[in-house]
Amino acid sequence: MIRAIYPGSFDPVTFGHIDIIKRSAANVDELVVGILVNKVKKPLFTMAERYEMLCDAVKGMENVRVETFEGMTVDFARKNNASIIIRGLRAVTDYEYEMQAAQANRTIDPEVETMFLITDLKYAYLSSTTVKEIASYGKSVDDCVTPLVSEKLREKFSCTF
Ligand code: ADP
Repeated sequence: MIRAIYPGSFDPVTFGHIDIIKRSAANVDELVVGILVNKVKKPLFTMAERYEMLCDAVKGMENVRVETFEGMTVDFARKNNASIIIRGLRAVTDYEYEMQAAQANRTIDPEVETMFLITDLKYAYLSSTTVKEIASYGKSVDDCVTPLVSEKLREKFSCTF
């Protein structure tokens, strides 16, 4: 039984995240998507909102479930009996941070491996930050996010797109 976790802020979930979820879920028995209570980043969406949007995004994916967590990623992996941490890589700019995080996690728990999936070219420039910025100017983000996320962004920014 190979179980993996896919941790992140998901503020909000984008098609880039969903692509990583689908591709990793196809290669493990069970995938637990973990929404991190991040003490550093100030999220636009509450945990409950991010949870709702992610659950909606993964509905119908039989071996994927969504959870929230606080604290260290390796502890979340252990709690779920997961041996793999999935992360997505977009540009080289992701690389340095991800390498440090993976090495730190490996030092703490060498039995948990971090595995990287390279972004699909379609989503290489897609990030939650970009999506929020576009939506904040009243532009449509329907090409980047699910209808529910698009609706929630419209509500947040009181837009009519
Ligand atoms: P974090 O705050 O932990 O970086 P994010 O929600 O921004 O959380 O991202 C979670 C994971 O998804 C990270 O590994 C990130 O690199 C990856 N990711 C985000 N957007 C994309 C994308 N467009 N393509 C591939 N991976 C992505």
